[in-house]
Amino acid sequence: MNLESALRYSHTLLDQVVQPGDTVIDATVGNGNDTIYLASAVGKSGHVYGFDVQSAGLEATKTQLLLTGLLNQTTLIHDGHEHLSNHLPEDTQITAAIFNLGYLPGSDKSVITHAKTTISAVEQCLKILQRGGLVILVSYYGHPGGKDELNHLQTFLTKLPQKEFQVLNYQFMNQQNDPPILFAIQKR
Ligand code: SAM
Repeated sequence: MNLESALRYSHTLLDQVVQPGDTVIDATVGNGNDTIYLASAVGKSGHVYGFDVQSAGLEATKTQLLLTGLLNQTTLIHDGHEHLSNHLPEDTQITAAIFNLGYLPGSDKSVITHAKTTISAVEQCLKILQRGGLVILVSYYGHPGGKDELNHLQTFLTKLPQKEFQVLNYQFMNQQNDPPILFAIQKR
């Protein structure tokens, strides 16, 4: 057994809660790796809402979803995740949401996630999260602006009420070069 990377572990955790028929959110679509994984996990009776502010990644993801027969159960939204409530049908409940923070490798490095909008989106997800459901954040913070987002996020997560949420922090502590941190919030 090898301990899993933060990214790999995010899917291991999601595997435990996401079932066919569920509604879930990919808050940072990028090139669509999580969107494709989630669309496959929820199946034809479920739905994935994916958000990104960059259209190039959304277009590439749409093509991949089409080629893999997963487009019908996916809605890709070209808007910031801080506006996610505006795009979801009324009374939507989710079992999971995933955020991959930072910038999209290979694209414009100045387009990064920011604490204020990330935290607003997480709060919106927590309101519609079913009991037992998970909101997962994989935080990359080595880039300019990354540590500021991480600091605010850690403060926010630390203060989430223990009676309502469990918050996990998963990180390799002896790796060089700012190893990513996984945060998982589970609604009790
Ligand atoms: N999960 C992606 C994948 O599988 O390729 C990688 C995501 S990348 C680390 C972060 C993404 O967040 C970028 O594509 C960026 O455009 C997006 N982003 C930045 N600010 C955003 C916002 N306010 N709302 C939604 N997406 C945002």
